[in-house]
Amino acid sequence: MPASLRRVLHAALLAVLVQPLGCATSLVSQKEEERRLRASDDDSTRPAPRWGLVIHGGAGVISRESLTPEREAAVRAALTESLQAGHAVLARGGSSVEAVTAAIRVLEDSPSFNAGKGAVFTHEGKNELDAAIMDGRTREAGAVAGVRHVKNPISLARAVMEKSAHVMLSGEGAEAFAREQGVELVAADYFRTEERWQSLQRALEAEKKGTAAPEESGQPQAPTQPQPGQPQTRGPSALEDHKFGTVGAVALDQAGHLAAGTSTGGMTNKRFGRIGDSPIIGAGTYADPRCAVSATGHGEYFIRYTVARDICARVELLDLPVLESANQVVMEVLVQAGGEGGVIAMDAQGNVAMPFNSSGMYRGYMGPEGTPSVAIFKAP
Ligand code: ASP
Repeated sequence: MPASLRRVLHAALLAVLVQPLGCATSLVSQKEEERRLRASDDDSTRPAPRWGLVIHGGAGVISRESLTPEREAAVRAALTESLQAGHAVLARGGSSVEAVTAAIRVLEDSPSFNAGKGAVFTHEGKNELDAAIMDGRTREAGAVAGVRHVKNPISLARAVMEKSAHVMLSGEGAEAFAREQGVELVAADYFRTEERWQSLQRALEAEKKGTAAPEESGQPQAPTQPQPGQPQTRGPSALEDHKFGTVGAVALDQAGHLAAGTSTGGMTNKRFGRIGDSPIIGAGTYADPRCAVSATGHGEYFIRYTVARDICARVELLDLPVLESANQVVMEVLVQAGGEGGVIAMDAQGNVAMPFNSSGMYRGYMGPEGTPSVAIFKAP
């Protein structure tokens, strides 16, 4: 396909994907985007990349009815604050790694999301947190899994990336490293919220009655293989009020470098030291010089389908626009497999994608013009 045609298609896709944000005026209009992309066929007129950041606060079954106005306002306020924190870093010329860290810390500190304070509970009634960060410029990465006392796991993941010889640390070892590095530790009950505690009680009750969704049971599942062309489905009752709530950020800085980060409490009622996709580089988090991704959803699928790397591999090896690539993996590959969730992705020109195959995904975008845009549902 000729590059010019591909770019026009890319522009059309961007218009469709960002429409749910309900903020078309704050993003590049379709016409302007087409003009920009046509111009970019000629290197001498290629516009500067659009620096900025995109964030998510988790995907899942988020119905308008179940979201009270108070809760919606709290979610929107936290997403906006997160965008502003990341944007402030980028606006003063800071790095994408720094911006991702700043944006995620705000969401970790908010009880509205399943990361840091407000994390979901394990089967045993504990909070076990996972996080990862990756620098697209250098492909350096840091991750932590199963930590119980780290106030901001994304900061510990960054310390692993920048100050250790390793990529992933877990449990007590990770916390010993946190102490050594002066990363803030808190008492285990800091993370507790009543709402998450009640979610665990409901999951335990459902498990007793045998009505739990597989991911709520915390039990290993028999492998499910949908017939080709037949997406795997689950009963609505099993997924009622089910939301994931992981947080993530992807940023492009003014120097043109990408970074991605993700932080989570995992899934309610998880057992046996279960680790999800978020801290696994290439599954829930990934960045390279051309593409960066942070995911949210049913982690087991994102691990098995190496979702974040698959999206960036399509950009790198097939030269696909990030919009098309993210869409293929989330709306085709994952839907076929039965993997619920979504991603945020960005390329080195600042094009963004935010596809999700669940009913909602908390998400937001802020570009150089400095207007934060947040959205929850498919339609504004
Ligand atoms: N992906 C996370 C996990 O499986 C959950 C989420 O996105 O909320 O641990």
